Amino acid sequence: MSGIERIRVPTPFGIGSVNCYFLPGDRPALIDPGPATEAAYAALEGRVTAAGYEIADIHDVLITHEHMDHFGLVRRINHQSGARVHAHEKAVEVIADQGRHFEHEREFFGPYLRSMGVPERVATVATELPEPYLAFQEPVTVDNILSDGDSIALDPMIEVVHTPGHSPGSVCFYAPDGEWLLTGDHLLTDITPNPAMTVQQGRPTKRVRALPQYVDSLRALTSYDGVVGHGGHRDPVSDVRPRALEVIDHHESRANDMESLLEAEGPLTAYEIMGNLFSDLPITEVFLGMSEVVGHLDLLEDAARIENVPDGDIVRFRAI
Ligand SMILES: [Zn+2]
Ligand SMILES: [Zn+2]
Repeated sequence: MSGIERIRVPTPFGIGSVNCYFLPGDRPALIDPGPATEAAYAALEGRVTAAGYEIADIHDVLITHEHMDHFGLVRRINHQSGARVHAHEKAVEVIADQGRHFEHEREFFGPYLRSMGVPERVATVATELPEPYLAFQEPVTVDNILSDGDSIALDPMIEVVHTPGHSPGSVCFYAPDGEWLLTGDHLLTDITPNPAMTVQQGRPTKRVRALPQYVDSLRALTSYDGVVGHGGHRDPVSDVRPRALEVIDHHESRANDMESLLEAEGPLTAYEIMGNLFSDLPITEVFLGMSEVVGHLDLLEDAARIENVPDGDIVRFRAI
């Protein structure tokens, strides 16, 4: 098996460090170089140099998904090395113009959050928050647009597995020879990624039903039995299948809790549900808190276990 090296790249975000992966060999590659900060670049360059290479030697850069803690540095690496950039087709527009993407999200989610019962002032602040994060990325042009099932001729050969949910363009990279799977933020060892609400690429007036997609993508990973997962944060997952099953269970039990709450207290707005589940959530966490609630409501709705009750401009939910 070819060696795969994890480089812990610092980020200024609450999540802590992000894992970049380095594949040495004749065709050196980096997967998820990290955010666009000097500290991240220094960490990356230090480890690549220690392995006997230079950033200019990098032949390929792979992006697991369109979040800037993972792809922010890609452009700088690409300028120095001319490396080929690979990312999924659903990530391409977002990483090419993150500012425009945030604008689309703000336009959609301001009114959407208000319809979910979020007070106007809170909705305004919650949808403006991503703006300062733009400093941690530079726009990226993708050379090789990936689809599910594609192969990339690295050392070792990599297969692309599309795993939408945490983001629409999320992919895992599987190395059959090495028996490992790079899981991005899709599957992590001791935390579950937020099913962040977002709009559809090319159709910014439509919301993505992120959590139902995410759970489907977890089911697709249950065939990776006995395979080590290398995630975008934290330590490796020793076996992908049991961890994927565990995360599916976690979301089923969250959905069950929400259904019980609606049986006891409903009809409730999504914002009221959030207040029940997470008391005293700071305003900076409201978008993610609402993403959790809306995601589980989507799961319950798809299973015909709840229905919505329009009340003027606001929607409430009740158990069936
Ligand atoms: Zn992410
Ligand atoms: Zn991440």
